[in-house]
Amino acid sequence: MNELPGRCPTLAVWKFASCDGCQLTLLNCEDELTEIAGAIEIASFTEASRAVVDGPYDLSLVEGSITTPGDAERIRQVREQSRFLVTIGACATSGGIQALRNFRDVDEFISIVYARPDYIDTLRTSTPIADHVRVDFELRGCPIDRRQLLDVISAFLHGRKPRVRGHSVCLECKRAGITCVMVAHGTPCLGPVTQAGCGAICPSCDRGCYGCFGPMESPNTAALAARWQDLGVGPDDLVRAFRTFNANAAPFREEAGAHDER
Ligand code: SF4
Ligand code: SF4
Repeated sequence: MNELPGRCPTLAVWKFASCDGCQLTLLNCEDELTEIAGAIEIASFTEASRAVVDGPYDLSLVEGSITTPGDAERIRQVREQSRFLVTIGACATSGGIQALRNFRDVDEFISIVYARPDYIDTLRTSTPIADHVRVDFELRGCPIDRRQLLDVISAFLHGRKPRVRGHSVCLECKRAGITCVMVAHGTPCLGPVTQAGCGAICPSCDRGCYGCFGPMESPNTAALAARWQDLGVGPDDLVRAFRTFNANAAPFREEAGAHDER
């Protein structure tokens, strides 16, 4: 990312189909927000303020996935107004939990859930932002990690690459001295194929990772699935494990598909 000499860069935060948890992570940076506000003009962040400064913007943070025809049009407008566009969270980077629709008949859901299905204008799939426009950086997590978010904003301000790595949660366990729940207790854990960033929260609480940060770089999901089968996990549970927050991320989607007997 290039530096912006001579003026205060502007930040815009956008919401698509999502639960707002990643935007809340930004709000939760209470201690750092005043410092951020001194270095970057928060020009549009409607979850925090109704005051909106018109674009274009230097940095856009985009939360949420594309699930409606209106979304698909709006994200193109956001891209046109944004010098750099960073997607934040599982919804924006893989389609989110709402991408479970991609594996079933959406019309059936609509007819069951809504009293007036004719009011619903939706796409058959939930897809990540990168399927629709160019994305400069993707920040994973459900929700994202505040330290990684601050690093991405700092990287933008200082014209460097974010210090976000593509290795697995296992490395975070090792660094923190956490006993491996899979080796020690036979607890199924998605840590070996999940991108680091959370600080190995779940193994530190003696439970397996369920993959909320999505697939790491080059994950060997087939080898992990085979290990889980050795631990007695059946095909239905394997499908459920890979089809959660990042169900539509290619490595998880393909591994779940390999065990889906329906
Ligand atoms: S607990 Fe899970 S994430 Fe941690 S080392 Fe073991 S397999 Fe890897
Ligand atoms: S250990 Fe896994 S499921 Fe738990 S917070 Fe970290 S990435 Fe998410």
